[in-house]
Amino acid sequence: MGKRPKYHFNSELLRFERIQRTTLDWLKSFLFHAFTGLSMGLVFFFIYLTFFDTPLTKRLREENEELKVQYRLLQKQSDRVKEVLVDLQQRDNNLYRAILEAEPIPANVREGEFAGTNRYASFAKMNNSELLKSTTQQIDGLSKMAYVQSKSYDELLKLVKNKEVRLLCLPAIQPVLNRDLTRTASGYGPRFDPIYHVPTFHYGMDFTSPTGTHVYATGEGTVILAGWKRGFGNAIIINHGYNYQTLYGHLSSIKVRVGQRVRRGDIIGGVGSTGKSTGPHLHYEVHYQGKPVNPTNYYYLDLSPEEYDKMIQISSNFGQTMD
Ligand SMILES: [Zn+2]
Repeated sequence: MGKRPKYHFNSELLRFERIQRTTLDWLKSFLFHAFTGLSMGLVFFFIYLTFFDTPLTKRLREENEELKVQYRLLQKQSDRVKEVLVDLQQRDNNLYRAILEAEPIPANVREGEFAGTNRYASFAKMNNSELLKSTTQQIDGLSKMAYVQSKSYDELLKLVKNKEVRLLCLPAIQPVLNRDLTRTASGYGPRFDPIYHVPTFHYGMDFTSPTGTHVYATGEGTVILAGWKRGFGNAIIINHGYNYQTLYGHLSSIKVRVGQRVRRGDIIGGVGSTGKSTGPHLHYEVHYQGKPVNPTNYYYLDLSPEEYDKMIQISSNFGQTMD
């Protein structure tokens, strides 16, 4: 188009004259066309952007939708995990910790907020910030619950191990063989003294048995007395730890030494009638925190519930104190 010569009419000379175009004219013309073209292009480009997605935008939009779906699935999954954890917590507090005599862990410790309030601030600028924030909070909460739970189990494991030792040590059997319970003469409680004939308190349990009948240690422990003790004649005291001690009185023989470690069921002596006694029998006491307690509560490895009832009946109703 630029190659076609251009003319203009000279009215003074009444003729057409060919126009000589300068480089500047060319440049102006070029810039004008370029600018118009570019402007139109931009206008169409923006119209296109407004009404149609570019392939990249389209892909990102689809991915974003997919992510939202995935996040919601994650939330549902973490809801289910939370249910399981809550169940574990309840069993932990109400069963395991109760059995092992540990304080329950308070809810605010189990589900406390994470330190640092700006932890989720970076999400605020994003689209779907709520979805991101709530999901992250949920997962953080689960991590905390799981952490506290595992700590609790560590603690319980220690308690269980301790409990096993404790169970070995506590007095838990009768000190003489007494299958038919005929050897129980008298139990713990107020009695009439068989020698001085005055009301008194019997701090132990009497097992009538022939002289020399084996006497057993009722729990693991260390012998802290093996010899004569006023009123009890030949006596043995075992310290079981955990604030428990047992005393065996009126023995005919002593088969252990002070300082000796004994286990439950070890023969420690023979039944006799030494000291303040009216006939061959074993006087047996259980002490907790330095005070005598009723030995009937410490035969649980030995007696069925029925036998236990029978022993209580014999020792409290028909029993005769041998002291
Ligand atoms: Zn007695």
